[in-house]
Amino acid sequence: MSRPKISCRYGEFTVIIPANSLVEAEKVMKDNEEWILEQWKRFEKLRKNIPKRDFCEGSSIKVMGVEREIVFECRRSNFLGDKIILANHLIERSTVKEQVEKLLRREFKKEVERRLEKYKDDFRPYNKVYIRDQRTRWGSCSSKENLSFNWRLILGPEHLIDYIVVHELAHLEHRNHGDDFWSTVGQVLPHYDVSRDWLNDNSHLLVWH
Ligand SMILES: [Zn+2]
Repeated sequence: MSRPKISCRYGEFTVIIPANSLVEAEKVMKDNEEWILEQWKRFEKLRKNIPKRDFCEGSSIKVMGVEREIVFECRRSNFLGDKIILANHLIERSTVKEQVEKLLRREFKKEVERRLEKYKDDFRPYNKVYIRDQRTRWGSCSSKENLSFNWRLILGPEHLIDYIVVHELAHLEHRNHGDDFWSTVGQVLPHYDVSRDWLNDNSHLLVWH
C-alpha cells in the first residue's frame, strides 16, 4: 500500500492520500509539523528577496543577467544592448509593465527559437512551440510533442534558456527524469547542473509582479 505524501511548492503545501488509506490529512500535517515550519521559513526568506521593480522611465530590470534601463522613445519598442526601449504611443495606451512584458516575451521567443535551431540536430523533431506564463513550470513537453517555455526565464541568466530548451528537447526521447534523460541532457550541456541548481535556489528572482 502506498503511503500519504506531503510536498511544498512556492509556499503551498499539498497532502496526497492514497484512495485506500484511512489516514487523515490533518494527521499527516501534524506528523510533519517541523518539516512544514522549516519549508515555510525558507519560503518566507525567499519571498522577502523577490526583486522590487519600478516600471518607470530610468529604472532598470535585470534581463539575461544584464541590468537594462527602461527608456521611452518615439520609435518602435525594442530591446537594444542594455536598454529596453518603449515607444511613447504604446505607453499611452497601456502600462509600462505591460509593455515591458510584451517586449520581453517577444525577445524570449527569439532566444528560444535561436536555441531550438542550434540544438535541433541533437534531438528528435518537435511539433509546435508555445511561450507561456505558468506559475510553477519553466517548460513542458506534451505527448503531442509540443514544447512550452515560460517567458519569465528571461529574467534569469542566459544559460537558463539553453538549459530549459535542451531539457524539453530531451523529453522528446525520455518522458521521465531518469538516468537516461539526464545523460542525454549532459551530452549536450555538460554543465547543466549549474542551471538546474540556479533554478532551484533562485526561482524567486523570476517572479514578475
Ligand atoms: Zn523535465
